[in-house]
Amino acid sequence: MKFFPLLMVAALAATVPAMAEEVTLYSARIESLIKPLLDAYTKETGVQVRFVTDKEGPLMERLKAEGANTPADILLTVDAGNLWQAQQLGLLKPIKSTVLEANVPAHLRDPQGEWFGLSVRARTMFYNTEQVKPSQLSTYEDLADPKWKGKLCLRTSKKVYNQSLVGTMIARLGEPKTEQIVRGWVANLATDPFADDTMMLKAIAAGQCDVGIANTYYFGRLIDKNAKLPLAVFWPNQKTNGVHVNISGAGVTRYAKNEKGAIKLLEWLSSEKAQNLYADVNMEYPVNPKVKPDPKVAAWGDFKHDYINVAKAGELQTTAVKLMDRAGYR
Ligand code: FE
Repeated sequence: MKFFPLLMVAALAATVPAMAEEVTLYSARIESLIKPLLDAYTKETGVQVRFVTDKEGPLMERLKAEGANTPADILLTVDAGNLWQAQQLGLLKPIKSTVLEANVPAHLRDPQGEWFGLSVRARTMFYNTEQVKPSQLSTYEDLADPKWKGKLCLRTSKKVYNQSLVGTMIARLGEPKTEQIVRGWVANLATDPFADDTMMLKAIAAGQCDVGIANTYYFGRLIDKNAKLPLAVFWPNQKTNGVHVNISGAGVTRYAKNEKGAIKLLEWLSSEKAQNLYADVNMEYPVNPKVKPDPKVAAWGDFKHDYINVAKAGELQTTAVKLMDRAGYR
């Protein structure tokens, strides 16, 4: 008889499902981009994913304020510059995952394992097809040439995307050379820098300027709405260091309650089956080299991208901000 209670427990355990596992995500990417993906994860694994979405600044503030009491297991955001900031604030913890190391190329993740790229975004050049021939274009550096006077449009230097671009230019070319280029850009501006990439692209399409720099997915959204816009992609620096790329990515929070679950979710996000779902929804590029981009994105052409570690963008962010300020790039 003394085994009976044990049998009872076993029978009970078989009928009452174990407490569903849960992972909590703080996401600077909007709900419409991440929810389909997290739903797919829950469907496949039974793991519930709670998430909070906000801008990266408030999310990092929140993580800092909550400290060890945070419910967040993962911080997900865009731009290596932001992930690097989170790392500097001590909000992330280094993890070891052979799956992530295999799926995410080394230059698209933190060398210390505190964050990992999950999609790639290319910050390239766009031109007005009625005003410019692609043969006139070559490099980011060339946009500083006086031949582009009054013909260049840029987004504001306040945006981390441009800070990262200039940061990697500093890493490649050194500060004096980069400053000279940024001064040249400023001298060539057709109009004040724009608040966002979309407004800038519209200005190029409208003929207000000939050429500018933007992330490809903004272009994708625009031509989705109007395929006839006189706007095209140009891949610069193909004979030198390649197109500036950045990432959206994530890291495990320093005080994650479910570190194992967090790592499993990140591993899944980098897997072949999740990568298309993740990258295609925002017309980005998969980070996992085994996965092809969406046909719509692939149609913009192949290009060589810069293989400098994106962590450089973070390391040189302050230097880049000061340089752009000195050069009068607002
Ligand atoms: Fe963006």
